Amino acid sequence: MTLKLYNTYSRQVEPLVPSNPDGVVRMYCCGPTVYNYAHIGNLRTYIFEDVLRKTIKRAGFPLKHAMNITDVGHLTSDADEGDDKMLAAEKEHKTVMDIARKYEDTFFKHTQALNIDRPDIVCRATEHVQDMIKFVEELERKGYAYFSNGNVYFDTSKFPAYGSLSGQKRDDLKHGARVETDENKRNESDFVLWFTSSKFKNQILQWDTKWGRGYPGWHIECSAMSNKYLGDTFDFHGGGSDLIFPHHENEIAQSEAYTGKKPMVKYWLHNGFITINSEKMSKSLNNFFLVKDVLEHYSPDALRYFLISNHYCSPLDFSDERLEEMTRSLERLGTSIDNVLELLAMPAGAKSDTSAQLLADAKKIEEDFEEAMCDDFNTALASAAMFELARKVNIYKDAVLNKNVPVDSSVVSEVKRIFKTMTDILGILEDRWTGSKGEASNKDYNDLMDLILEVRQECRAQKQYALADAIRDKLAALGITVEDSPQGARWKK
Ligand code: AMP
Ligand code: ZN
Repeated sequence: MTLKLYNTYSRQVEPLVPSNPDGVVRMYCCGPTVYNYAHIGNLRTYIFEDVLRKTIKRAGFPLKHAMNITDVGHLTSDADEGDDKMLAAEKEHKTVMDIARKYEDTFFKHTQALNIDRPDIVCRATEHVQDMIKFVEELERKGYAYFSNGNVYFDTSKFPAYGSLSGQKRDDLKHGARVETDENKRNESDFVLWFTSSKFKNQILQWDTKWGRGYPGWHIECSAMSNKYLGDTFDFHGGGSDLIFPHHENEIAQSEAYTGKKPMVKYWLHNGFITINSEKMSKSLNNFFLVKDVLEHYSPDALRYFLISNHYCSPLDFSDERLEEMTRSLERLGTSIDNVLELLAMPAGAKSDTSAQLLADAKKIEEDFEEAMCDDFNTALASAAMFELARKVNIYKDAVLNKNVPVDSSVVSEVKRIFKTMTDILGILEDRWTGSKGEASNKDYNDLMDLILEVRQECRAQKQYALADAIRDKLAALGITVEDSPQGARWKK
């Protein structure tokens, strides 16, 4: 089946044909700015990219996936203005690098919990500054960059294709009200490649260059690192749709000017926003929910399933009701998985018309699932197909238990393969297949938790509060919250 996807650049749905003759699909995703905890809007981007990754691999393509970590130089505004996000984080009274590492670690803990595969290459901006400097020097040598009053700028007038991705015209930008006028620029749409003079007098991370001591502009890191790891032309470039302009537009200008106009990216993919009451979730609007806080109330699976519950291009409104709905849906799917596992544990019997029908239905549903995923990652339709399979499994189990239909193990094994492929691609319910969240182990888990809480209660009764608190903190580190109330202690995962 051909994988088709919507390309922001061509504004069309196109079939995937790898651009390099070795057939390896190369993909670059703009990674997190590690100055604070990620909110669930940020996570939608990484989950979408992970579904993309899993689908490409499933379609049989070898994949090379790189993602940057922005630990220097990203200003809070899209223009070359606003606060430096990393400097803003210094309010925590830690060094910029301590902050960056702390939030990077948390980011990967969360992505791991959400079953997001780690990209093959994770590259930190601060470890690639020399690559960026060389990149800017080359742009200057080719006549695309100029030095003006302390900063190096990209000259967009030298790059006629500027604006092709976003549809922004250079002339429109001249009159754009949202960009602060910078007297040092030749053209309003020009942007900074390297700062040596800026309003951040206390910028801690600085490097020596021939232009003076300074730090990189926000966009240059992605051009320098994607070129280093993926080459002049690669297949996918992803990010949230707020990155289309100016970030990705500027990346194209820098990279194509650098490589002599080789197309930088074949397919540009952008996901829509997570919204709250139809407004973009963002730190600046103060309407965000941090991943860490949401995970205190809902399982990583429920959050992941919510984030892929509609088409990635459309906005998705966050609410507790939706998360609760996802939790119930996952429980229904989980019960069907348990049914598959229970059927496989039963004594095998003969073939029957019922099992032949189940097999035919499962194969058709597998095709529907693949077709939906290959049609620009229609996860909502794919999920509906998966539910249909779950329903067929339940009907079959009912026939086995109540209508004396024998268990056709070879058919059930095939159904298991199909069902598991679906949950693997969507990245949900992984544990359920190993039985670790199945009914039996759930009971064991609950019994064990009750026992731990009893011991803790006993500690409190004997005034051993430090020990009781230590038990609570250790449980919290495992993602289990303990709440004390007059009725006794309660726990939730
Ligand atoms: P940042 O860490 O701010 O650089 O953002 C990381 C990623 O999250 C980028 O690809 C953004 O486009 C994306 N993003 C930010 N806010 C949202 C949102 N509300 N919904 C979806 N994606 C978002
Ligand atoms: Zn980027």
